[in-house]
Amino acid sequence: MGHGQNYLNNGEVVHARFHTDQMRSECMKVQEIGKRGFLFTFFELDNCPTNVFVINGKDHLFICDTFLGPDSMEEMKSHVRSFSEEKPFVVFNSHSHWDHIWGNCAFPSSVIISHTLCRETIMKEAESELQQYEEYKMGNVKIVLPTLTFTQSVFFPDEDVTFFHTPGHTKDSASCLDHVDNTLFVGDNIEEPIPYLFSDALGLYVHTLKEYLRIDATTVIPGHGTIPDESIITENVDYVEAFMRNDTEKYEKGKYQFLHQMNLKIQRENKK
Ligand SMILES: [Zn+2]
Repeated sequence: MGHGQNYLNNGEVVHARFHTDQMRSECMKVQEIGKRGFLFTFFELDNCPTNVFVINGKDHLFICDTFLGPDSMEEMKSHVRSFSEEKPFVVFNSHSHWDHIWGNCAFPSSVIISHTLCRETIMKEAESELQQYEEYKMGNVKIVLPTLTFTQSVFFPDEDVTFFHTPGHTKDSASCLDHVDNTLFVGDNIEEPIPYLFSDALGLYVHTLKEYLRIDATTVIPGHGTIPDESIITENVDYVEAFMRNDTEKYEKGKYQFLHQMNLKIQRENKK
């Protein structure tokens, strides 16, 4: 395995690892967001670029989500050292899904924050998800639970960072707002072109998306994919409301069709 570093035209840094044994190349993209944000995007999950957002706070480095395991987090940490002095990490899990929490074990002495339900769900589901999706793990994954939970929100006054409950994608979903840059990390609550509807609490989902609109963030960072246009929140609200009204003709074709059909299936199964 070799290591390389390349700079793209727009100043983004890409660390690329080349697996000569498998003729496979993987990379981690780093983008600067605002005055103190860094967005790490990983490409190892099939067709699904996954984001880890880092806030370089006054006395702490906040890590939003931990991707697929310790190897990816070590890579992220070594890049963090290039722009920050040594500071304690504060880790945040946006929700309990496996592709956002497997790297928790790379932060053995750090506080790991999540919503109370997120910790409970990790306790119930994570070991079986680890078996089911084992082929995706990056390094020696051990399931590590959040160490600090909240039900509404938790605020770091000296850092101007808030973590708050935003049920939607799942009931245990939470978000992070960096008040300094007005950057909002939303986990999987915002997706292009339409969101997955895993939870049956769709009214709460709409409430969360409208709360995002009220915050009017400068930059919205999703758990997967590129930074979306401002209009995406409204488009996601329109879809969830249409789904609740059973008025989904627009979504039965084109780019929406596959996801919409899947949502119908998930919601039917939820009702059983
Ligand atoms: Zn998810």
